[in-house]
Amino acid sequence: MHFSFSMKTSISIGRIMGIPIKLHITFLLILPVFAYFFALSTVNIMGFTLGFGDVSSSIIKYVFGALAAVMFFVCVLLHELGHSYVALRYQTKIKNITLLIFGGLASMEEIPRKPSTECSIALAGPLVSILIGLLSLMLFFFLHQTSYMLLYVKTLFGILAFYNIFLAGFNILPAFPMDGGRVLRAFLATKMGYMEATEKAAGVGKIFAIFMGILGFFLLPGGVWFILIAFIIYIGASEEEKSTIVAVTLEGVKVKDIMTADVVTVPPAMNVSELVDFMLKTKHMGYPVFDGKPLGIVTLNDVRKIPVENRSNTTVKDIMTDNIISVKPEMNAVDALKIMVKHNIGRLLVMENNLLVGIVSRTDLIRSVQILK
Ligand SMILES: [Zn+2]
Repeated sequence: MHFSFSMKTSISIGRIMGIPIKLHITFLLILPVFAYFFALSTVNIMGFTLGFGDVSSSIIKYVFGALAAVMFFVCVLLHELGHSYVALRYQTKIKNITLLIFGGLASMEEIPRKPSTECSIALAGPLVSILIGLLSLMLFFFLHQTSYMLLYVKTLFGILAFYNIFLAGFNILPAFPMDGGRVLRAFLATKMGYMEATEKAAGVGKIFAIFMGILGFFLLPGGVWFILIAFIIYIGASEEEKSTIVAVTLEGVKVKDIMTADVVTVPPAMNVSELVDFMLKTKHMGYPVFDGKPLGIVTLNDVRKIPVENRSNTTVKDIMTDNIISVKPEMNAVDALKIMVKHNIGRLLVMENNLLVGIVSRTDLIRSVQILK
């Protein structure tokens, strides 16, 4: 899978091909669960014993269980690196690869709009998984269990073969935002507009998620995994649909086209009750705090935090956010939106040659999308 939403609460473990590799907190929680599962499972599917539950020594059981869990996630990482390698070849930047509870995620700076490029990037991951699966399968068949140790290693390769092929098969299902869904969108995009293709592919993903969720209910308690993954697919499909609509609608729109140009600023020394009167008169939700140069931004939310009786002895400077981020008027509106989302702020100052020329808010951007759509 490769989604494109931002991830917090992760730790970095290094870089591969220049891409930061991160472990999400949910991954650190799930890894021992996988190790435990592989250690105790005696499930046998098509001649593959998918765990070490039959091993009598509990040390060996847990050591191999942990090894299987770690190797499985290394394979997930390789799957993501497969996507990333092809993406980099098409000059698509990868922000990072994160391992989480349900697998891996390669966050691309921008999802390529050319169908053949998106298709190649989407297929690269499952291809890597199939190759690892086949390689493990060969090792599984060629290893002869002349000793117990070799039997454990053989079981390990059986697990890797089974789950890598499963991973490839699962990801290739045409349910957006999984890899197969991207292939579907790329295919549809050759027949219709990109936005329509995204909506159709997301629709298929959502229907798939609903079916999977219902199936999960019938398979409880093990089905809880299906329900979880169904949720992730459903949310992923809607998120990606929304962000595509925004990106396509705002294509070619610059910050200067949608910013508020006649900026109303307030001085840092103004007190909060004066600010409230000023807000009532000027009817904006946020103001740059200006004293020769921009010092911060003060919004209605900042005002609300101050009790009415304290407002006359509190200044704008005391309550403003001094984390100001400015952009140039020529910047693409979509990039401005990305900055706001990344820093979790509602407004950006528009500066040119050290002069404040405008202010752009999330509301401005959302309104523009609604008008232009
Ligand atoms: Zn993938």
